[in-house]
Amino acid sequence: MSQNNGIGLYVHVPFCLSKCDYCGFYSEMPGRHSIEDYLNRLAEELRERLEQLTRPVTTVFVGGGNPTCIGLENLQRLVEIIGSVLPDMSRLEEWTFESNPETLSADIVAFLATLPAIRLSMGIQRLNDGELKVLGRRACMNAVYCALDLAFAKLANVGGDFILGVPGCPSLAGDLHQMLKRYPLAHVSAYFLTIEENTPMQKAVIQGLLPDPADIGADELYEVRDVLAAAGFEHYEISNHARSGCRCRHNLNYWYQGDYIGFGPAAVSSSNGIRLANPPDLRRWLANEPPAVEKLSSIDRRNEHLMLRLRLLREGLDLAEFERGFGQQSDDFYEHLARQTAAGNLQREGDKVRLSDTGLRFADEVMASLFIM
Ligand code: SF4
Repeated sequence: MSQNNGIGLYVHVPFCLSKCDYCGFYSEMPGRHSIEDYLNRLAEELRERLEQLTRPVTTVFVGGGNPTCIGLENLQRLVEIIGSVLPDMSRLEEWTFESNPETLSADIVAFLATLPAIRLSMGIQRLNDGELKVLGRRACMNAVYCALDLAFAKLANVGGDFILGVPGCPSLAGDLHQMLKRYPLAHVSAYFLTIEENTPMQKAVIQGLLPDPADIGADELYEVRDVLAAAGFEHYEISNHARSGCRCRHNLNYWYQGDYIGFGPAAVSSSNGIRLANPPDLRRWLANEPPAVEKLSSIDRRNEHLMLRLRLLREGLDLAEFERGFGQQSDDFYEHLARQTAAGNLQREGDKVRLSDTGLRFADEVMASLFIM
C-alpha cells in the first residue's frame, strides 16, 4: 500500500536539554556517557536489523527529543553510523533532521548542508515570547530568529513545527503571516495541543491556572490555513502544509501505511500489520530489551487506512482501493458515508471521498462514524 517500494528509516534521539511543560514524549538530559552508550548501541541495532532488509531505504528521519542537543561531533558520528549501513546515501530521496532553535549552530547547519536531499524541521511552536513561556519552551524568539537566519543561510528546505490551541493565547495566524515575510519556510506542521498525563501543563489545567485546550475551538486551524494558502502553501494533510514539491516524503510513507523501521528508544517499526515498539527508556533499550510486538487486526488496519487517507486532503479515500484491501463494506458504512456527505462534512466524487472544508473541524467524529468498533 506504500507509494513506492522503499522503506522509511527513523532514528530517535532521546535527549533534550530540558522538558517542555506539555511534553509527554520520552526524553532525558544528555550526558557524555549516555550519548556515547546511545551511539554505540545504535550502531549495533542498525547493523543487526538492517542486514535482514531486502528493500531499499528511501527516506531517513532523525527526530527526538532534540537531535541537535548532542552537538556537532556526535551528530557527525550519528550520520556516519547511519551511512555505514546504507549502500549509497546519495540515493536517498529525503533526509530530515529535527532541531530545536537553541541548539542549532552554524557548524551544525554547515554539516547538515552536506547531506543529500536534506530538510530541516525546526521545532518553533509559537512566535511570541509570552506564548513560548506558556509552553515551557527553552527558546525565546531571539533564539528562533538566530536559528532561522543560520538555517536559511545554507539550506533551502527548512520547515517549522507549530502548536495550535495554546490556552489563553491568541491565534498563531497573525504572527505566522509576519514571519513568512521574513523566512520562506518550505513546510509547516501545525498540531493542536493535547494535554498529556503527568505534565506540568496538565497540573496547571487541573488547578484552573490555564484554560483546558480541549475547550478551544478549531477556528485557529482555518486562520492558519488561510495565511499559509495565501503564501502559496498546499494544505495536503490535516496538520501539514507544504510549498510545491516540499511535502514530507517520510511522513507520506506513514500516511500511505508503507513500511518503516525505527531505531533508538521509543522508536516504532511497522511492516505487514506488525508493529514493534522499542522500550521507551534509554537504559532498557541499552540493555537490549526486545521491542513490544503488536499484531494489528484486519479491523485495526481497515480503520487506520480510512483515517490516514481521509487525513490526506487532496488524495482522500479511494473506495475501490479500500474494498480491494478490506473487502466489500457494509450497508451501514455506506449509510454513514451518505449521512456525512449530506451534512457537508465529506465530499464524494465517484470512488473518491474527501474531507470537506466544514468537515475539517469535525474530522475525528467523521472518521469515528465510519470505523468498525
Ligand atoms: S523539545 Fe520536544 S521532545 Fe523535548 S521536551 Fe520539548 S517537546 Fe518534548
